[in-house]
This record gives sequence, structure tokens and C-alpha cells, in this order.
Amino acid sequence: MTPPNIAVVGSGVVGLTTAIVLRDRGAGVTVYADRNACPPASLAAPAAFTPYPAGDEDVFRRRTEQSMEAFSRIAREAGSQRGVVIGELREYSHAPHESRPWLDRLLQTRAIEPAPAPCVGANITIRPMIDMTRYMPWLLEEARSRGVGMDVGRIETLHDLFARGHEVVVNCAGFWARDLADDPLVKPMHGQVVHVPNDIGLDYSLHDDAPDGLVAYIFAFGGRLVLGGTFEGGREDHGTDRGTLDAVIGRCRDLLRIDGHPRWRDLGRTEIRALSGIRATRGAPGVFDLPRVEREDRGAGRMVVHNYGHGRSGVTFSWATGAEAADLALS
Ligand SMILES: Cc1cc2nc3c(=O)[nH]c(=O)nc-3n(C[C@H](O)[C@H](O)[C@H](O)COP(=O)(O)OP(=O)(O)OC[C@H]3O[C@@H](n4cnc5c(N)ncnc54)[C@H](O)[C@@H]3O)c2cc1C
Repeated sequence: MTPPNIAVVGSGVVGLTTAIVLRDRGAGVTVYADRNACPPASLAAPAAFTPYPAGDEDVFRRRTEQSMEAFSRIAREAGSQRGVVIGELREYSHAPHESRPWLDRLLQTRAIEPAPAPCVGANITIRPMIDMTRYMPWLLEEARSRGVGMDVGRIETLHDLFARGHEVVVNCAGFWARDLADDPLVKPMHGQVVHVPNDIGLDYSLHDDAPDGLVAYIFAFGGRLVLGGTFEGGREDHGTDRGTLDAVIGRCRDLLRIDGHPRWRDLGRTEIRALSGIRATRGAPGVFDLPRVEREDRGAGRMVVHNYGHGRSGVTFSWATGAEAADLALS
């Protein structure tokens, strides 16, 4: 039987992962992407394995476990060359959180007691930390070495790809799926980060949820720290702002002080670069991380499979939703 000829739109983490899964299952795959007009959020993400719950609890658990297994395997095989390490993330909470025993087990969660003031809870967790500056090039090379075709250029409509001879189109266009899939439920959530030298010798990562809805995180990737984060709904440009970045650095110093790190004042004195990206959120107000993974029959034997709208968890769930999209595309 001739293998199906599948087009994947998007070379962000979701598109490349889906392309690899499809290729491993025997499909012919070409990735179409326009990184200039539509700069992938994946290149701006730091990223930590952050499974934010949304939607059906069983689906959430399955996706979390499946992706955790995939990243753990990548880390075991050659993690440091691929940008994936299993590292410590300390979580400081300013409000009580619903806990999930299975997730606590998966992340080897243990409490820091007593939680330092003003936090109401503090945990040490162990999870994949994904340095996207190294992981994305590795993922691209993995796709290429398997024979995935790459076509650089803008796609105006998904329909154009059927005209190019593809039977199935997998839509992994992130935020721009709003236009390609004509989906008004997709909303932009702009995020900024700043990379700084790790001149304070930090060998673990930190995260907190401030009471005013702001979040601070410091992700440690060897000699570099990534400080974040911002969540600006409705913003769709690719700029960074000095004032916003200064506030991020200030919040991260506070986080480090709460953690008891002796050199919290020295964090972020010099900078390497600032980056921004547009996360694609989808669904009802307050729902940020519920991707659309579904099939759409376009008639005459043509099928579109959607895999977008991952919000804050696109890296985290990339292997799980990539496998789901491949199931739909090949079924
Ligand atoms: C600051 C920040 C921090 C984050 N931190 C984390 C984290 O710690 N953990 C985590 O799991 N997630 C994190 N995220 C979220 C994560 O980055 C996204 O969910 C994920 O990158 C989405 O990947 P994607 O492949 O769906 O979309 P994108 O990476 O945005 O890729 C979309 C692709 O589609 C292409 N495209 C779009 N339209 C067209 C078109 N018309 N023609 C051709 N090509 C097109 C683009 O060129 C691009 O290649 C963070 C995001 C940001 C911005």
C-alpha cells in the first residue's frame, strides 16, 4: 500500500514532533512553515515540563504521563546534547493549590517545610527541563534525518495543500491557526523572557505564582538562566519592553530572596538577550491550555487534522498530542 502523503503546517515544537511521529509510522511527510512572517512561540519558550490541567481529567493525565515518558527517554538517551535534562524545580505558592497524588508521584514532589513567608506552600519537584535553544535544532535535525521534507514559505489556506497533492493536512500553526482554521476561539497570549548569564551558580530552577496573578520563574540551563514570565492577553506583536523586562527581573530577584539564595541581589545584572512569543490559547475565558486535537472532513477524501491551541503547555504536551494527531491522520 502506498504510504499517505501528509502535509504538516508549522515547524514549531508541535509541528516537528507530529511530523516525526507520522514519519516513524510510515507516512510521507512534508512540513510547511514560514518562520519569518509567523515566528514560532517555540523559539521563545524556555521551557519547563508544565502540565497545566484543562478539560477532561483522564485526558490530562494520559497526556502528562505520555509526554513525561517521552522527555525522560530523550534525557536518558543523550539529554545534554538535545537540551533536555531532568532537573529540580522549586515551586513557591502564594495561594493553596489543588493537589493530584498521581502528579505529585510523577514529579517526585516533596514539601519544603516550613514554606518561607509569605508563601503558603513550597515544593521541590523533579521534571524535564527543556532548553529550547538546543532542543528545537535537534528536533529539526531529527525530522530531516528521517526524511521529512521541509518547505519554507507561507501557506495562505489549508486547501492549497490538497492542490499540491497531499491527502491529509495536519494543522500545527499555533496562534496563526486562528486564520488558517478560521477559528475565533484562538486568542493570543504574549510572553516575554530575558536570558541572563548564570553568574550566581544556580543549579536548580524556581517558579512562583504571585497573588496579583503574575508569575515569576527562573529556569537554569547551565551557564544561562531564563527569567520570566509575562502573560499578556490580546497582544500579537513580537516586541519586548524594557519596563516589563525590568519588572520580570525584579520579581525573579524576589523569588530568589524568598528561596533564601544568598546572591539574589546579583541576578540579572547583565543580559544576553530578550525574546517574546505568542502562545495560542483556545476556548472559554480562563481556559488557557486546552488544545484542539481533532479531525475535520473536508469532503472528496480530503482531511484536516488540527493540533493547535496548547497555550502554556505546548512543549509539555507536544509528544502526547503529536501521537493523537498521528492516530487521527492515519486512521
Ligand atoms: C515566553 C513563553 C514561555 C513559555 N514557556 C513554556 C514552558 O515552560 N512549558 C511549555 O510547555 N510551554 C511553554 N510555552 C508555550 C509553548 O511555547 C507553546 O505552547 C508552543 O511553543 C506552541 O508550539 P506550536 O508548535 O503549536 O506553535 P509555534 O511554535 O508558534 O509554531 C507555529 C508554526 O506555524 C507556522 N505557521 C503559522 N502560520 C503559518 C502559515 N500561514 N504558513 C506557514 N507557516 C505558518 C509558524 O511559522 C511556526 O513554525 C511558553 C511560551 C512562551 C511565549
